[in-house]
Amino acid sequence: MELLDGKKLSSDLKDEIQAEVRHLTAAGHRKPHLVAILVGNNPASMTYVASKVKACNRVGFASTEMLYPDDITEAFLLRKIGSLNADPDVDGILVQLPLPAHISENKVLEAIAPERDVDGFHPVNIGRMVKGLPSTWPATPAGVLEMLIRYKIETVGKVAVIIGKSNIVGTPMRILLSGDHPGGNATTISCDIYTSKAGNLAHFTRQADILVVATGVPNLIRGDMVKEGATVVDVGINRIEDKSNTKGYKIVGDVAFDEVAPKCSYITPVPGGVGPMTIAMLLQNTLKLYKKQLGIDS
Ligand code: NAD
Repeated sequence: MELLDGKKLSSDLKDEIQAEVRHLTAAGHRKPHLVAILVGNNPASMTYVASKVKACNRVGFASTEMLYPDDITEAFLLRKIGSLNADPDVDGILVQLPLPAHISENKVLEAIAPERDVDGFHPVNIGRMVKGLPSTWPATPAGVLEMLIRYKIETVGKVAVIIGKSNIVGTPMRILLSGDHPGGNATTISCDIYTSKAGNLAHFTRQADILVVATGVPNLIRGDMVKEGATVVDVGINRIEDKSNTKGYKIVGDVAFDEVAPKCSYITPVPGGVGPMTIAMLLQNTLKLYKKQLGIDS
């Protein structure tokens, strides 16, 4: 069994991005610029935005954090996004989810211009991804693909089972694993809560050469649900009580790691697997949008 070391890989990717930014700024170009919008004070969202801004600093990007109280109106947020769309010094705009209930997530995500849509959540980018056209891919599934590619894990003709069907992870993951590009052309099976309720989850997971789990259910995948030699990618991030820890909690994934790892060829740890890759891909997306906006080819 080999660990898929997302921490190390994301650090390598950040080094590559940093080197490219140095090269571009030395040639007289401005820095790539990411704007992160956070509405309200959800602690997890605040942590995510802070780590995205920190990652921007690490690679030499400019970043702007826009923090708003949770009583702002939807119209205000849409106007703000409109002016950022029109700003030639902004390359990527992300709105941290979830938003307060009175603000429509769909309206907000659709207000971000596709060419500034660093998260790849705009319907135009999703449509282009489905058609196999150049587009911005959502960072988490893109990070999983990058991991499979860099570890030279064969996907062509392999059975990939994806558990979870969210718009930000499970569904784009299935599209990318089945698409015709490096890390794709797998035979994909998509499972969700109803697969579990029907009692069929293990039937499908046992067929997986590559198993990607993105449900938010700790210990959903047990040792007897995985085929010998499988590659297991655990996207889940769950906080569970842990009195032995000074914080009082620990972070675990959706896979019972100790049971599953001995059966695997490859497995991601949590933390240190997919999470860091997500941030690295967000940076890569920003760099791509920047180069497109400035008309830089390489
Ligand atoms: P979501 O709640 O939007 O979707 C969960 C999906 O899992 C649904 O499709 C649901 O049907 C399915 N599901 C739930 N219970 C199930 C069960 N018992 N059996 C089978 N399927 C089940 O979640 P999401 O936004 O896709 O996130 C999933 C997990 O991934 C969460 O733990 C989240 O924190 C984590 N996440 C991690 C990263 C990262 O960078 N590592 C990024 C995004 C999300």
